[in-house]
Amino acid sequence: AKKRGRGRVECFTEELRAAAVHTKRLSDELLTALEHDQIIPYFQPQFDARTMAIAGVEVLARWNHPTRGILPPDRFLPVAESLHRSAEIDAIILDKALFEATRWRTHGIDVPHLSVNISAQRLADERLFKRLSEISFESGSLAVELLESISFEGQGEELKSAIHRLKALGIDIEIDDFGTGHASIVSLLELGPKRLKIDRKLIAPLEAEGAQLKLVASIIEIGRSLGIEIVAEGVETDTHVEILRSLGCQTLQGYAFAKPMSASDFITFAQEWQAENSK
Ligand code: C2E
Ligand code: CA
Ligand code: CA
Ligand code: CA
Repeated sequence: AKKRGRGRVECFTEELRAAAVHTKRLSDELLTALEHDQIIPYFQPQFDARTMAIAGVEVLARWNHPTRGILPPDRFLPVAESLHRSAEIDAIILDKALFEATRWRTHGIDVPHLSVNISAQRLADERLFKRLSEISFESGSLAVELLESISFEGQGEELKSAIHRLKALGIDIEIDDFGTGHASIVSLLELGPKRLKIDRKLIAPLEAEGAQLKLVASIIEIGRSLGIEIVAEGVETDTHVEILRSLGCQTLQGYAFAKPMSASDFITFAQEWQAENSK
């Protein structure tokens, strides 16, 4: 029995060692990605549910890996978070996205707002405000998407002051993944958001009847009565589109229309979309 016990201990330490090696490899890789400038922005358009014009664009981070291709954020953001490098990633993405966006107008592309995702770490970073005061998105407004859960991570007062400063810079606030966190609606509305993004977990099961429909309908109703724009994300099917339209949801985002795409693919997409939509 003793022997087997030792075996288990050895096996356990072996697992720990393997996990440590794995973590070390991921963090080395992330540092390489940063060093070699492999973190890039992808762009996913949002659409006005009534006119189907492009209503805005969300910027999403990707890792352009030399051998493994384009990798999604869940492959590097958690590591970045644990290494306290996520503010740095947000900074890179913001700068690159704005650089791309300056080309849109010359291509005849009209994007009323550009939204970037901001982590809690980045919101606590003084350089964010300095950067945002220097730059502009000339075609329209700039917005930051904050996770509903952020209201727990930050100190209430610090969060409010950060949001106040963003607004003073003319930046719109969007509450991301709305409906899945545990923040009270009242505390979220105190932040004075321009938009609420209904999480795709609430959109996915949408059918013509049922509790889910009532929940989404009531979120849209809250938006209407308070003058807050409601964006549905993860809109994948014609059924989703029809239901959301009939409920009066203003803005739609999801695979039903377009996946996130590279800067150059977005230009082609937007030009074709605008040409088609103006017919
Ligand atoms: P999110 O902000 O909730 O972004 C929406 C996610 O849903 C994106 O995943 C997008 O690609 C995906 N998506 C869009 N339409 C559909 C659809 O119709 N169906 C399905 N199944 N998915 C759809 P992605 O790009 O993998 O990003 C995951 C998360 O990573 C984002 O969730 C966001 O929280 C975070 N993230 C992405 N870029 C950044 C960034 O630059 N900074 C920070 N701090 N976080 C980021
Ligand atoms: Ca988002
Ligand atoms: Ca979201
Ligand atoms: Ca999400």
